[in-house]
Amino acid sequence: MKDDPSVPSDARFETRAIHIGQDWRAETGAVIPPIYMTSTFETGNPGGFDYTRSGNPNYRNLQATLASLENAKHATVFASGVSAITAIAFGLKSGDTIVSEQNIYGCTYRLFERVLRKFGVAIEYVDLTVAANYATITRLKPALVWLESPTNPLLKILDIQAISDVAHRVGSAVAMDNTFASSLLQRPLDLGADLSLLSTTKYTNGHSDALGGAVCSNDDAWQEKMIFAQKALGLQPSPFDTWLTSRGVKTEAIRMERHCANALTLAQRLEARAGVKSVRYPFLPSHPQYELARKQMTGGGGMLLADFGHSQDDALAFIRRLHLFTQAESLGGIESLVCHPATMTHASIPKDIREAAGVTDGLIRFSVGIEHVEDLWTDIEQALEGDGNAG
Ligand SMILES: *Cc1c(COP(=O)(O)O)cnc(C)c1O
Repeated sequence: MKDDPSVPSDARFETRAIHIGQDWRAETGAVIPPIYMTSTFETGNPGGFDYTRSGNPNYRNLQATLASLENAKHATVFASGVSAITAIAFGLKSGDTIVSEQNIYGCTYRLFERVLRKFGVAIEYVDLTVAANYATITRLKPALVWLESPTNPLLKILDIQAISDVAHRVGSAVAMDNTFASSLLQRPLDLGADLSLLSTTKYTNGHSDALGGAVCSNDDAWQEKMIFAQKALGLQPSPFDTWLTSRGVKTEAIRMERHCANALTLAQRLEARAGVKSVRYPFLPSHPQYELARKQMTGGGGMLLADFGHSQDDALAFIRRLHLFTQAESLGGIESLVCHPATMTHASIPKDIREAAGVTDGLIRFSVGIEHVEDLWTDIEQALEGDGNAG
């Protein structure tokens, strides 16, 4: 078995996902790492470990893998995506400003509004698909610009390179939530972002059996803040969850390819189907930022949005008629899920703000899994046919 230094430096994503972050092997020969279920370590050990809140071999393995996959110098793992957001947020101080895309993950919005504001951080939300709104960044010179692309749930695509250029001209750092795209399809740091954030709960782990988060960067000062947050704020993951994620990430590339192929097929068929009001998928030419999506992503991802012209009750009834799509929050696992954003993921956002951002009552979000696409299509069709409006 080979150790990390023997992995060719030009090895591709699929190879690095499997071979980087494996350096426990030299001691034991074990092909798969043990789970280091230990809270503490003997002083003076060669790995430099002291206490699991501030480091564990299972974190080290996953951090090495994720840094490589995101083309980053550093990666720090956390207990969840929200822990990773918290780690970045607590890198700010009272008096700082964040300029954020308006259509962000619901729990990010809640953390900004209900926690950060209490500590004197100002947050300004703008629609960053509109280039004229970049002026808000130039005017406010925020400590941080917060991006998500594709956004949740509207799948808006933001121009990471253009926004990073504007932000850097006024000295602002750019954090980009890469959860929906995944490390395979999009590299925010290569596009100019300073921090790339993952909820590894989603596509990185891919099996809906562990929570986790990570922040990747090339910036030593931010990395110091991330390491500090991991231990000083108690945001560390469990060794077991990082072990599971290290296992899951090995198949990220092959899973993502199937997620993308299935979602594109369903998107095309839904768009062609009579009675469907709207379909949104980044790699459909009808997507408002289709060209940009093609430029900064190598695939459209596994998330798909549809509006069948339903009222809230009819949308929920459609969801109940599905058999293979389980109604659940979350996304990015091998199994297909379906979600009603207005009453689920975005329920914590006041209705007027939610609707102004485009999260309306008829909207249905699919996390398309890696089942056979014909079985998924048959399921959607039977659920639509059970409905007088869109039949
Ligand atoms: C799920 C998610 C998060 C939060 O991650 P958790 O692991 O659930 O804490 C953050 N951002 C996006 C875009 C997500 O989908």
